Amino acid sequence: MSEELTLLAVFAHPDDEAFGCGGTLTKYAAEGVTVHLVTATRGEAGGIAVPGLASFANLPDVREHELRCACETYGIEPPHFLGYVDGHLTVMHQGQAVGRLVRLIRDIRPQVMITFGPDGIYGHYDHIAVHRWATIAYDLAADPDCFPDVSPDGELVCSPHQVAKLYYRAINQEQIDEWDDYGMSTAVMMDGVPFPFVGYPDDAITTVIDVQAMAQNKIEGIRCHRSQIGDENPYVEAPEAVMSRPSFQQETYILARSTVEIPEGVETDLFTGLRATAPHLSRAETE
Ligand SMILES: [Zn+2]
Repeated sequence: MSEELTLLAVFAHPDDEAFGCGGTLTKYAAEGVTVHLVTATRGEAGGIAVPGLASFANLPDVREHELRCACETYGIEPPHFLGYVDGHLTVMHQGQAVGRLVRLIRDIRPQVMITFGPDGIYGHYDHIAVHRWATIAYDLAADPDCFPDVSPDGELVCSPHQVAKLYYRAINQEQIDEWDDYGMSTAVMMDGVPFPFVGYPDDAITTVIDVQAMAQNKIEGIRCHRSQIGDENPYVEAPEAVMSRPSFQQETYILARSTVEIPEGVETDLFTGLRATAPHLSRAETE
């Protein structure tokens, strides 16, 4: 039996995927899973870390180009953009945004979705808006009465789809403590206000993905976002040191919704319960 697996990640800005789940996206693409990324904005509200690399006039185009670079680095499909304005997601029409995500879900038809949790990693308003949109879209994509896509002659254009599992990217407190030990900031400054990273206790984390083997792709994906991260940072100046950190080699999630039964204990695979065969094993090897 051939197994076609699809993963859909939904985030707010170019670079959210890089720090959050670049290793996970790379790992599943390398396995043969079709991996899609939806990004709500083109990141035009962020600063320009490298003068001359972009202007405020062309920043959306530069950020889009950088995200396309990252997707190529992860080996995933080109990104989908919702085209909303960076920093304004909380004032967008939620029903319209959910409807657009529902249609993308019905078109892409993933078994697994990844998005932000209610914490938005560090409380970023755009992240929290995307968390709400993606969670509602997960629920409504399966409902034929919601956002029906019907042609003028009454044919369903895109049929409802039940995504099996929904995950929230969640950082455990141990990872934040490690950043603190390395002298890294444990908060993000927005408009002069510190927004601390939200750390979950270990027992709240349901799923740990080992991305050690993908560390090189992950760091190159981060470096694609050069206009945001600049050139003077550990990702550029000391990549080997960054890649050796335990917090860089693990990406942690909370399973928020599932239509399949999940075995006890910490999951190590987003597709647990959805595979006909174990990953990487051919039919001949399993017989
Ligand atoms: Zn973001």
